[in-house]
Order: sequence, then C-alpha cells, then structure tokens
Amino acid sequence: MNAVVTLALIALIAFACWAVSVYVYPFRHCGKCGGTGRKPGSTRRRFDLCKRCSGTGRVQRIGSRTAHRSVLSVRSEIAKERQRRRDRQADERATPPRRIGNRP
Ligand SMILES: [Zn+2]
Repeated sequence: MNAVVTLALIALIAFACWAVSVYVYPFRHCGKCGGTGRKPGSTRRRFDLCKRCSGTGRVQRIGSRTAHRSVLSVRSEIAKERQRRRDRQADERATPPRRIGNRP
C-alpha cells in the first residue's frame, strides 16, 4: 500500500472520529473558570460570572455548530426526498387505473 494513501486514510479516520465526538459532545469545560462558571478570583463579596462561558461553565467546541448543521441539512434532504416519494405515491393512488376505461 502506498504510504500517502495510508496517511490520507489515517487522517480521514481521525477526522471522522473528531466529527463524531464533536457531534456527540458539542460542549467542553470552560478552560477559564474550570467549569464552575465563576470568574477566577471571585470571592463571597466580589462575585462575577465567567466572561467566556457567561456562567454556564461550558463552552461550545469549535466545529460542533458546523457538524450539527451539516447533519441537520442531510437529514432534512432525506426527509424532503421521502416526502416527495410519498406525494408521488399518493398521486398514483388518486388517479384511477386506465385499464377499466378501454376494456374490450
Ligand atoms: Zn467559564
């Protein structure tokens, strides 16, 4: 096997793994606050929400939006195609068969 092909295959597999992981886990711990949602250095008297995650403790992973959007577009294409097929079947059922008209 060609070394370049092997390398490309490994890269493709790595990309697929990353895409799946980013789809299943779109969020990761906020690195700034460590997932607490508090601004570092907050005390009982001086409390601030973490600016990066706005207090949720989670930040969206890069690429998760793209991954979800592409999956959604593919699924909507499939649903559209299915609906088109259903419409066609309904049309065929609605038109009466021609054989009855020109029977000998
Ligand atoms: Zn944070």
